[in-house]
Amino acid sequence: MVIFRTYRLFIWIFLLVCLIVGKQQEIQEYEARFEQSRRLEEFRCMNLNNYKKEGLDRLFSKEYDRIFRAVKKAPIRQKDKKRVVYEDSWGEARSYGGERNHEGTDLIDRENKRGEIPIFSMSDGKVENLGWLPLGGYRVGIRSGEGIYFYYAHLYRYETGLKKGENIKAGQLIGYMGDSGYGEEGTVGQFPVHLHVGIYIPDNGGNDMSVNPYYLIENLYQME
Ligand SMILES: [Zn+2]
Repeated sequence: MVIFRTYRLFIWIFLLVCLIVGKQQEIQEYEARFEQSRRLEEFRCMNLNNYKKEGLDRLFSKEYDRIFRAVKKAPIRQKDKKRVVYEDSWGEARSYGGERNHEGTDLIDRENKRGEIPIFSMSDGKVENLGWLPLGGYRVGIRSGEGIYFYYAHLYRYETGLKKGENIKAGQLIGYMGDSGYGEEGTVGQFPVHLHVGIYIPDNGGNDMSVNPYYLIENLYQME
């Protein structure tokens, strides 16, 4: 009887070890994949400001051309830009809601006042998602005709009348910068007032892959 119990215990321990090792491997593989895409992303973005001008478009993939076609306007007007700080933080570690990587660019209001800075759509497209997300707060998701998904998060409020399924033009007002999110609906004040912009491109499997919006936004301001 004792032998039988020990045997059973051994099996359980063995299964548990398998599970832990498997999980660990999965995490390592994910990190390796992420690091790979990060390096590729950096390479693609490095000279973005000279894109086309220096013939760098030949270095870019067809996927990137789709993004360039889709992105037309900066999410913050030039006149509000001096009030906003942003940096290249794509890929940095974030811990709320589990370990993850920052899939976007944060444009932060230096004055930290919710509801004052208007947010504009970067592309033409259709409102695919609208509403609360525990991580993103009040967010708008717009899918461009090229299939690129633009994600605007932590809004104070939406532009009045904005609806899911609505067609949007690049440069159209969609809402106001805020600090909503990191909790149940209506949560504010968990972090400074900022706009989180995410840009996603569908891969062959139809999953949205995050690309770095930082250089795209920089590029837009330089072109204005
Ligand atoms: Zn963010």
